Amino acid sequence: MRRFFVNLGGSLCLISGGAQASDITSIRFGDHETYTRIVIESEQPLNARAFTLAEPVSRLVVSFEVARWNVGRLPDAVGQGSGLIGEFRFDGEADAPRLVLALNAPARVQEPMALAPNGGGYRTVVDVARTSQAVFQQLSGFPDQVTDLTRLLAEHVDVSITLPTCEAVRVVIDPGHGGHDPGAPARFGGGDEADVNLAAGLVLRDLLNASGRYKVIMTRDRDEFVDLWDRVDIAREAEADFFISLHADASAKSSRPRGATVYSMNSTAVNRARTRAIRGGDWVDPDRPEDVSRILVEMSLNHKESQSELFSETLRAEVGRVQTLWRDQAMRANFAVLTDASVPAVLFEMGFMTNREDARRLNSAAERRRLMQSVTAAIDSHFAHCGGDGSDAHPLAPNSANASSMR
Ligand SMILES: [Zn+2]
Repeated sequence: MRRFFVNLGGSLCLISGGAQASDITSIRFGDHETYTRIVIESEQPLNARAFTLAEPVSRLVVSFEVARWNVGRLPDAVGQGSGLIGEFRFDGEADAPRLVLALNAPARVQEPMALAPNGGGYRTVVDVARTSQAVFQQLSGFPDQVTDLTRLLAEHVDVSITLPTCEAVRVVIDPGHGGHDPGAPARFGGGDEADVNLAAGLVLRDLLNASGRYKVIMTRDRDEFVDLWDRVDIAREAEADFFISLHADASAKSSRPRGATVYSMNSTAVNRARTRAIRGGDWVDPDRPEDVSRILVEMSLNHKESQSELFSETLRAEVGRVQTLWRDQAMRANFAVLTDASVPAVLFEMGFMTNREDARRLNSAAERRRLMQSVTAAIDSHFAHCGGDGSDAHPLAPNSANASSMR
């Protein structure tokens, strides 16, 4: 029985401890290919949870432990969203202050993410992604009502809905290319991309091993060809907690582009992951309704997407200290190696083989080590909740044994 890292229904998030009155000072919306992002800025970190309701009208609710509306340009606490979000209003009179946002299409909500100030206030980020009407209906409901779903799942899924133990976080390092596939060729001397990727992967392995907190699995640790799907299978079979693929970019047109880029799955990749999960049979169990399997896949994808994206932000912040970032945000792409349905995964382009300065750095042992130290810092930060004492303070609590903590 494989492990499920799922968040049953209503999402919760918890970054802050404090229950100080906290003003919401800004709200903005971003349309992306696969999702609409809502960014809520506040003076203090907010405790937020998000869930969708299907009746009487489709809407998204973001409720706060404590919050007060203080958005200067929207004094009436009513506004218009974009993308999947229509009109919204803030209701400060309810027992829990809440934002109620109309949905223009069936959508599933990801766990709210908390981001530290970056020139402005604290940010609570809520992403909603388009989904089918059936999944929307299944996943919608007040968090208290979602226990029906919890019960249904518990009946069919055993109690193997578990969390990573935190005792040894399993990280898969995937140095891209290898063997008869050299990747991008060396243009300024030094190794081809496959060599550069492997050298970086080995340094990262050693850094993670030295910390004693991780169990590291390599998809390759020598110059050999490994099929893309075999790389995915290695992560799946290891029941990895995290997968990072290392690559180096190339620009056909110009030697000017330089810097690192972080990718997670785009919508096409999500669809591939979903199809593979169902067709591959790994998620299908003849003893349970197919709907349950589909919901589990959906939940796992939710978790994977939000974790991958959260890590992407962390990685960019750490890498940005030692290497130029090519794009001004994390990117999404349809890379096969990212398409396991459950293992959070990113593809890290470390720099451009086609840029002289990047190529120098990629081939310098000292620079490589610095870059991989920044990746290690990001991984440490992402798994910081896994305390050294083995205690598990993971924000998700999808164990059916403690369903109450999901409310
Ligand atoms: Zn590559």
